[in-house]
Amino acid sequence: MNAPAIVILGAGALETARRIQMLYAGSQVYALQGRVAADVPYTELGAQLRELYASGTPIVALCAAGIVIRCVAPLLANKGVEPPVLAVAEDGSAVVPLLGGLAGVNVMAREIAAALNVSPAITTSGELRFGTCVLNPPEGYALADIGQGKRFVSDLLAGESTRVEGEAPWLDDAQLPRSASARLAIRVTPRAWDGRDDELVIHPRSVVVAVSGGAGAGAAADGAAGSAAGSASAGVAASTGAASAYTSSAGIAANVRAALNEHGLATLSLAALLAASDRMTDPALAEAAASLNVPLRFAQTRPEDGAPPSNLLHAALRLPYETLHDDPDAGVALALTPLAIDANTIGMGRGRLTVIGLGPGSAELMVPAARLALDHATDILGYETYVKMAGPFRAEQRVHGTDNREELQRARHAFELASAGRSVVMVSSGDPGVFAMAAAVLEALEAAANDAWSAVELAIVPGVSAALATAAQAGAPLGHDFCMLSLSDNLKPWSIIETRLRHAAEADLVMAFYNPISRARPWQLDKALDIVRAYRAAATPVVLGRDIGRPGSTLRTVTLGELRSSDVDMRTMVIVGSSTTRRFAKGVEGGEWVYTPRWYE
Ligand code: SAH
Repeated sequence: MNAPAIVILGAGALETARRIQMLYAGSQVYALQGRVAADVPYTELGAQLRELYASGTPIVALCAAGIVIRCVAPLLANKGVEPPVLAVAEDGSAVVPLLGGLAGVNVMAREIAAALNVSPAITTSGELRFGTCVLNPPEGYALADIGQGKRFVSDLLAGESTRVEGEAPWLDDAQLPRSASARLAIRVTPRAWDGRDDELVIHPRSVVVAVSGGAGAGAAADGAAGSAAGSASAGVAASTGAASAYTSSAGIAANVRAALNEHGLATLSLAALLAASDRMTDPALAEAAASLNVPLRFAQTRPEDGAPPSNLLHAALRLPYETLHDDPDAGVALALTPLAIDANTIGMGRGRLTVIGLGPGSAELMVPAARLALDHATDILGYETYVKMAGPFRAEQRVHGTDNREELQRARHAFELASAGRSVVMVSSGDPGVFAMAAAVLEALEAAANDAWSAVELAIVPGVSAALATAAQAGAPLGHDFCMLSLSDNLKPWSIIETRLRHAAEADLVMAFYNPISRARPWQLDKALDIVRAYRAAATPVVLGRDIGRPGSTLRTVTLGELRSSDVDMRTMVIVGSSTTRRFAKGVEGGEWVYTPRWYE
């Protein structure tokens, strides 16, 4: 489950919110801007609640239940994700689960109520009677059919008793009306439900399916123009007309379903799809796993052991299991474990490296995809200051903050972690592709020419760059053609910077200067301004944004003539206007707008 969003409207709720926050690692307190400050500010309650709800984020709203209901009502007709939604009284005196019965809202209500020392307002009849939601089995188990589940629970509520068959440890404490001779049965089994209405079937995720591994299948999957000839294993498949089983996601998924069917196993009993690690980048496998709705895991077999899929099971499973099906020709083997198995313990997953930008500093200016990557990360790397800005993190997330400025080394460290199967996030400020880590990561990857690194699922998530954040505050100084320049001569010769400045000035581009000055580079900014002044009028507006989006930010507009390098430090963005950049007073508010018109004379 995602960490919940705890939403408050005023300072009176903050203390209760913080107590609830302690229960859920990674949770954040959302506070109405202007009324109270917490972790994430928002401006409109309804829009904020609907956004959270639509993204499947559990909501704990510290306000009247009616307000919450009205806010999310427009989304309720839409079946789909229904995250837990609870209303909690500001003073912590009442906890009311509202929505998300199948997503564990009552469990949360009990947890929160226990922490606040009150009784939760549980209204679900089955749950009240039996002390647990029979239809909401724990992680690792899946209900075969919700419609049948509801009928079954109403039979129990009408007075019937039930048997429990199979391992269901979470039902041990439930006050279920049990009887060994009952007509009804709760059956915990990987076997498919046969439609009997006197059974509630719950599947433990206890089946692992391995699909043909080895280089032969891998080469076929890479799809040299659909030719199935060549590899030994594909030769057999081709003769049975099943070549696509190796190469297309539909073929793989169909083969898996057929093997499950043959043994009467439910698809919902699948814990993972397993393949050889040399197929990590095969999109057909990823699609097949997605269509079967299970994680994709990998194992490496020794070349001398060959590619039969049962060898993959042997290499990946560390618990006892029974091999139910082993068909090297069809390229499928099935393993059944005695209990539900955690997919994370099967072989290894495909590692991931996501390079994100935090934006200039404040949480609202971080794009949601970056937030999501941080939430799912096992490891977070980056320059200490930025890593701190990206937190707080859950206890199990590993943070590798460093004041090490050696970016290539950090990039290599990220690949090392990711190629071992971890989900790594590399943090930059602003946009990761603008004078930041994304280029260093690609440089490290290209130079290493390492197959394991290339198999890492690499993604770069854009962010709001300092020039854009500063420009937006000032108005629209980048409204026409512009360029971004770093004045740092750490990684390029100063002569190149001078040439670029001259050409940009001559071309009448607005210029955004990153890294304008530092203790180690004290004279470069003055030199740069001298060059620009040779082309631009002294009255040209220059926007100076310092610590934009962070506490204590300042924004000033001066003229090119007035600007002194002492007005600027390494936390400043300098935007030098073009010949057409204009400024005018805002009016009553004070201050002024700066913009560069879209047209040219
Ligand atoms: N990747 C970052 C830039 C890193 S270079 C981005 O896209 O924003 C670092 C330079 O960016 C600093 O020297 C400063 O010029 C500028 N900068 C970064 N954050 C800033 C902020 N919050 N306010 C103003 N300038 C900032």
